[in-house]
Amino acid sequence: MTDPLYEMLWDCAQCGAKGLLGVAHRHCPQCGAAQDPDKRYFPPPGQEVEARHHRYVGVDWACTWCESPNSAAAKFCVNCGGPKEGAAEVKRVTEVPAQPAPTEVPRPPLAAPSTRGPKQPSSSLRWLAVVAAVIVAVLTIVGYLFVSKHDETAQLVDKAWTREVDVERFTALTTSAWCDALPSDAYQVTRSREQRGTRQVPDGQDCQTVRVDMGDGSFSRRQECTPRYRDEPVYDTRCHYRVNRWQVLRTDKLAGHASLAPAWPQPLLAAAPGGGLGWSGGVAVLGAERLGSRREAYQVTLQSAKGKQWVCAVDATRWAALAEGKPVTLKVRGTGGAVCESMVQ
Ligand SMILES: [Zn+2]
Ligand SMILES: [Zn+2]
Repeated sequence: MTDPLYEMLWDCAQCGAKGLLGVAHRHCPQCGAAQDPDKRYFPPPGQEVEARHHRYVGVDWACTWCESPNSAAAKFCVNCGGPKEGAAEVKRVTEVPAQPAPTEVPRPPLAAPSTRGPKQPSSSLRWLAVVAAVIVAVLTIVGYLFVSKHDETAQLVDKAWTREVDVERFTALTTSAWCDALPSDAYQVTRSREQRGTRQVPDGQDCQTVRVDMGDGSFSRRQECTPRYRDEPVYDTRCHYRVNRWQVLRTDKLAGHASLAPAWPQPLLAAAPGGGLGWSGGVAVLGAERLGSRREAYQVTLQSAKGKQWVCAVDATRWAALAEGKPVTLKVRGTGGAVCESMVQ
């Protein structure tokens, strides 16, 4: 069983006859002009006419002498007798798949559509070009200011430091994780089914009819389908448990200026419940406290003769070497920021 073929339509350019049949009307029934294959088009949906008893033999060829379309089976042009040799196949029409009709935007009537119509896109393009040029110019200026530097002399008006120490406590945490990632020291474990993610499962297909120009005045129809998927929840076992971990309980902080030598805070650690040091056989007991990580930061404040200030972060050695109340030279960017590494005293 072969799929049925349908008639493409064409309009006669000579006499204006419309909706002529691609297979049945090789010449205009009204004026006799030869069919122009370039003018073939698909009929509106629902108005397809079957090309009965039409046998498909191949794409038409266009006569090199008179441009008439001829059946692939013909050796000579039916219109002028010209040979098939060297003739090219006629162009075929591709149908744009049906899409929801674009919403029409009501347009004010154009007084002179021939001048206003085509002008609009080019003027909006020009506008875009102007915007792009402005953006490039601004970026260039900012980039130049950022790169350009000049020397400044400033006074080192302040030196400041901070040092902090975390205090940690051995704590029983209540938490949960997927059971395949359950810590080995978890206890009081309970399990529950919970959604862990989704997976895509096939859920039918979306089909549409596509019309294919056979190139001989007829077209065929075929279904084109794409699979459809839907999300399906994936369940897994969730573990709810307790686990003992060192947690940051608080952070003790000390801060000062040049007058006070940097020092570390000395946090007081609470005694573990039941006295002792909070350790039993090398293992911490709940409620035990210990010192955690420590951090330090140093900075200097510079001030220009005009009153502009810059704050520079430095390391401990550098901070100790810099003297307060003495001038420094440094490089300053066009955008106003200090290049701290360039600081020299
Ligand atoms: Zn005609
Ligand atoms: Zn011909």
